[in-house]
Amino acid sequence: MSISQAIEKIEAQYAHQPEFVQAVKEVAITIKPLYDAHPEYEALKIFERLVEPDRIFNFRINWENDQGEVQVNRGWRVQFNNALGPYKGGLRFHPTVTQSVLKFLGFEQIFKNALTGLPIGGGKGGSDFDPKGKSENEIRRFCYAFMRELHHFISKDMDVPAGDIGVGGREVNYMFAMYKNLTRESTGVITGKGVGFGGSLMRTEATGYGAVYFLESMLVTQKEDIKGKKVLISGAGNVSLHAAEKCIALGANVITVSDSRGTLHDASGFTQEKIDWLKAQKEQSKPLAEYVDIFGGEWLAKQKPWPIKADIIIPSATQNEVDEDDAKQLVENGVKYVVEGANMPLTAEAINHIRLHQVHYAPGKAANAGGVAVSALEMSQNSVRQYDTFEQVDERLKCIMKDIHDSAAEASEQYGQTKNGYIDYMAGANMVGFKRVADALVAYGILN
Ligand code: NDP
Repeated sequence: MSISQAIEKIEAQYAHQPEFVQAVKEVAITIKPLYDAHPEYEALKIFERLVEPDRIFNFRINWENDQGEVQVNRGWRVQFNNALGPYKGGLRFHPTVTQSVLKFLGFEQIFKNALTGLPIGGGKGGSDFDPKGKSENEIRRFCYAFMRELHHFISKDMDVPAGDIGVGGREVNYMFAMYKNLTRESTGVITGKGVGFGGSLMRTEATGYGAVYFLESMLVTQKEDIKGKKVLISGAGNVSLHAAEKCIALGANVITVSDSRGTLHDASGFTQEKIDWLKAQKEQSKPLAEYVDIFGGEWLAKQKPWPIKADIIIPSATQNEVDEDDAKQLVENGVKYVVEGANMPLTAEAINHIRLHQVHYAPGKAANAGGVAVSALEMSQNSVRQYDTFEQVDERLKCIMKDIHDSAAEASEQYGQTKNGYIDYMAGANMVGFKRVADALVAYGILN
């Protein structure tokens, strides 16, 4: 079956899973030159095999709220592909979580993890539980209840989850505690744990910092400097605030962050002091809008950052947060670099538009791979029971991000996708990630 026939099949079979179909099509279209050059892939039906998860666990979570009422949520773990190593990918707690969302995230994760060059397969999981408005006790009870079900399906050498939207260090620690309690094993079964009891230094910062390291490589390739560049960032969570922090440290001028209620615009630029304030504010689930009373700037209720003029954007909130109209506005405003901190933050139409206008574009599976890379380093540290310093992990992260950048750029060139100096990072990254997984599958025969 050719790639185009495989796309048609997926579109028909999974029409009710739009996010998953969107992610599959993006990969399928861009790997065609590689697929055509390797007839063994089609002979062994590698693409058809890769779009079907190895298995999906779907479970119920009962827990009790502060009023003593029983609450019921749905949970999933998608074990997508373990050709390169144990399934690895985060857990998301958000009311928008569905099987389609987790399948899109798990599918992306296979290639992202392959791009890191580390031995990890792809998976994803989560629940439709909404942490917003829940008390500390309710969050803890939910995390315990979630792990009570999930622990049946994971282990340190088989499937190692981590955090994602709605799951930070606090939630990971609660889930780790329940796993230890149920199994009486202290192993690296989940990453993003607290430092001092299994966590790696720099895991919290890794995704945001890694995205900025990728951006730096893009800028160097174009003989540009990050210093003084105006940057729009969306989201005010783990990825966004650490991306902002690293941009500021390197001399860029970050002028927005946002959340689901609106955008905070500070034309004078955020400083480390302001970012620290924002981190504390979000940790206590307080409104971003209060910033204006202390530091000035403007609060743009219910608005996205994208109409504001800038050189670079780092969308770091959620999927499909930049649509075609936003993309048109960004191009009109002269934005030159789009670096995806989030997973699939641009719609397919938005991607087409910015690529058509030669805006340098780093897809999430390359640019935000720093988080999972440091998670894999956490797994190694857990295995040998020795811990690296912040500087050692940071150095490894820089090398990994540069390697992802360079290999994507090389593949873009090798398969004729670089045109007039415009590097197609999307095609390059998809081909590198896909090739590593496909070659392993070919070597295994028809198992896996
Ligand atoms: P967090 O939960 O820490 O932060 C998410 C932020 O995005 C919050 O500010 C949230 O606002 C905002 N947000 C969420 N949904 C929406 C929405 N529909 N519209 C507007 N704003 C929204 O998550 P992370 O920072 O961990 O993750 C952000 C993205 O990065 C996700 O796509 C995730 O998959 C991806 N990612 C994360 C990694 C990690 O290491 N954490 C690794 C690789 C990718 P509010 O608080 O109002 O909900």
